[in-house]
Amino acid sequence: MNPGRRHFLVGAVSAAAFVALTRNGLAQDKKRTRIILLGTKGGPTLGTSGRSNYSTLILINDVGYLIDCGYGVSRQLMSAGVGLDPLRYVFITHHHSDHNLEYGPLLYNAWVTGRAHQVDSFGPPGLQKMTEAFFEYEKFDIETRLGDEGGTDLRKLISVHEFDKAGLVMQNADVKVTSCRVRHPPIAQSYAYRFDAKDRSIVISGDTAYAPELADFAKGADVLIHEAMYLPALEKLIRETPDATGLRKHLLASHTSTEDVGKIAAQAGVKTLVLTHLVPGNDSSITDTQWTEDVRKHFKGEIIVGKDLMEI
Ligand SMILES: [Zn+2]
Ligand SMILES: [Zn+2]
Repeated sequence: MNPGRRHFLVGAVSAAAFVALTRNGLAQDKKRTRIILLGTKGGPTLGTSGRSNYSTLILINDVGYLIDCGYGVSRQLMSAGVGLDPLRYVFITHHHSDHNLEYGPLLYNAWVTGRAHQVDSFGPPGLQKMTEAFFEYEKFDIETRLGDEGGTDLRKLISVHEFDKAGLVMQNADVKVTSCRVRHPPIAQSYAYRFDAKDRSIVISGDTAYAPELADFAKGADVLIHEAMYLPALEKLIRETPDATGLRKHLLASHTSTEDVGKIAAQAGVKTLVLTHLVPGNDSSITDTQWTEDVRKHFKGEIIVGKDLMEI
């Protein structure tokens, strides 16, 4: 509703009807597809700059679709005011620990904190084994609580769906989720996800080097949420990381520079680009202008430098 239309309604309908209309409008706002950045730091080290390890939440009609589970994700869901009850679907892009370290604990936290409910998790091979291994890790607690306190067995609430090629991941009445294989050597099974909801289409790059096929996959999306690496700060990061002999090689071969992110966003023709999984993620001296200056050489749309708990 534009302001002019709202103004017209105030004059044209009774106060009670206007309240009803406004409430209806708010309810619709609440139900729209929301994106909340839970953690915007790339890499497994713990953040010192106010950035938590990587995770992104999409809420569609108040149902939670969580992409990746970096360390701290459960706490970030609480801090975002979302809590753990809306969590219904979990998507893992690949099995680096900055994307899955809190996967098991998140399922556990949702079980003990909220009401017991089904969670479907999706991801590349290894997810089933990881889920079972976590249940084994907490077997004593789970079985003690079930015997002592009753309730539903966590192990019966989780359904794991592995896939090893790009394509349709899941679909329900609200959204269709598809995947695209991206370039993240030495990991072959690394995926981007696309969420086509009724009001918005959102693409999440996962971890990837420059991948033109991702631009095709993201064609026409409203929002592209892409990992980003700021090249001028890499040497400092490498100097400050203990035991980092192979780090430079890994970063350059497996991640995307800000300039290349701009190329992908421009090729895809998206409306909004969100930079997240920032590398370096601990260097608060890098300004938003620095994060975006090379992106802007190619991409003319809206650019958002991701910050923890930001809603888009
Ligand atoms: Zn990562
Ligand atoms: Zn990775």
